[in-house]
Amino acid sequence: MPQKFQNFINGKWVDAKSGRTFENRNPANWDEVVGIFPKSGKEDVDEAVKAARAAFEKWRLMPAPKRGDIMRKVGDLLVAHKEELAREMTREMGKVLLETRGDVQEGIDTAYYASSEGRRLFGHTVPSELPNKFAMAIRVPIGVAGIITPWNFPMAIPTWKIFPAILSGNTVVFKPATDTPKTATTLIEILMEAGIPEGVVNIVHGGGSEVGNAITSHPDVDLISFTGSTLVGKQISKSSSDTLKRVSLELGGKNAQIVMDDADLDLALDGVLWGAFGTTGQRCTATSRLILHEKIYDKFMTMLVDRTKKLRLGDGLLQSTDVGPCVNESQRKTVASYVEIGQQEGATLVAGGADANGDGLSKGWFYQPTIFSDVKPTMRIAKEEIFGPVLSVIRAKDVEESIRILNDTIYGLSSSIYTRDVNKAFVAIRDIKAGITYVNVPTIGAEAHLPFGGVKQTGNGHREGGWTVYDFFTEWKAVYVDYSGKLQRAQIDNY
Ligand code: NAD
Repeated sequence: MPQKFQNFINGKWVDAKSGRTFENRNPANWDEVVGIFPKSGKEDVDEAVKAARAAFEKWRLMPAPKRGDIMRKVGDLLVAHKEELAREMTREMGKVLLETRGDVQEGIDTAYYASSEGRRLFGHTVPSELPNKFAMAIRVPIGVAGIITPWNFPMAIPTWKIFPAILSGNTVVFKPATDTPKTATTLIEILMEAGIPEGVVNIVHGGGSEVGNAITSHPDVDLISFTGSTLVGKQISKSSSDTLKRVSLELGGKNAQIVMDDADLDLALDGVLWGAFGTTGQRCTATSRLILHEKIYDKFMTMLVDRTKKLRLGDGLLQSTDVGPCVNESQRKTVASYVEIGQQEGATLVAGGADANGDGLSKGWFYQPTIFSDVKPTMRIAKEEIFGPVLSVIRAKDVEESIRILNDTIYGLSSSIYTRDVNKAFVAIRDIKAGITYVNVPTIGAEAHLPFGGVKQTGNGHREGGWTVYDFFTEWKAVYVDYSGKLQRAQIDNY
């Protein structure tokens, strides 16, 4: 019998009030049920928000360094359980073990960063314009944070949000993706073991339209931190607007890697293979477009196609596997439909282009690593997020044209240029419209202590990671203390 899991509300494990459940299966072997989870609804969200609201009144008063001590324990526990967590994640969402270990490591880095932020959480002190008056700005917690996450980084993304939220003194109602409820459940267990009090973190499993929507429209939820598709991000913008919540949206991407004719081509090749086919192309920062200088186009394509055909598909738990499955049937269908679109648009299919059904693949959502050459920047496969192992290759004549092509998208998350010419690198850093620009590094591989997020329709201007996320999870309060003993009127008595 598959294991049954529950919601966690106010320090207790409970079923959905309706008693409904959903199943979660291994994408590399759909016969294997990872677990049965509660299919919750609005009434479960109401309970969780009530618990989070009540817990906030105590939690906000715990000194931040003490909250930081708990975060350090969370980090230590993640270290202790890293391998077992990584295996569980691969089984649940398919990416190879090397990458799920990295996913857990990002959670560890984020926990230790949050722990140290407990002793920092800097505000500002500034001089007052009046004598005998003190002026400062301090950070204060906001309240109940609704946290909604996708499945592709089942550990890193929840930790990017939950850890700074609670370190700042907020409480949390967390809805993970239905493809990765098990990893989210283990994260909650770790938080509890580390000593997070009852009600501070609550988890409600279930679908976006039921649980997600109940959180974003809830009058007693103060802020929403969401990562997912641009389509859902727009819906959340609307559903949260009636209650004027603070909302952070981290959305889709259509990232490109530029390779100039002066680049180290072997290095650029390793970069694009990792960027395009790591996590089976299912990363918001995945390299979905490759922009090649015309002088190296043919040579690079030969190298690229050759290496791509050698990539080994399989269960991510096997050491021999380079590329795991798509996360589910619907994602694989989306990939297949874009491959059809690419062919109809007149691009040339030079690698992959079909489901993969070889040995050990017949019960998983595997799709061959796929490359289109002769892609025009106007084609849909060059413009829309595919979120799968499909790379569109575009030709350009110089750095300026490459950057123009790179910028020609509604998204602006990650970008990369391979060049040995420092002048071209700096032109790219200046002119590329994206939240992240890598030089001689693929489009994937963000570090936990730097700002993460995108411009244009990749988001709404907030950043995760490092110090910047604390601006989202805290409110600024300006404080004036007048010790002159008389009424001093700003802008009046001093001029
Ligand atoms: P998704 O938008 O389908 O779902 C994300 C989460 O939102 C899930 O938990 C889902 O249940 C929930 N949801 C769905 N509808 C909702 C609604 N109406 N109200 C509230 N919540 C709702 O995305 P996905 O398929 O899980 O993930 C893939 C997408 O996420 C891609 O577009 C990818 O680029 C993006 N992503 C972005 C980043 C980033 O940091 N910018 C990182 C990872 C993934």
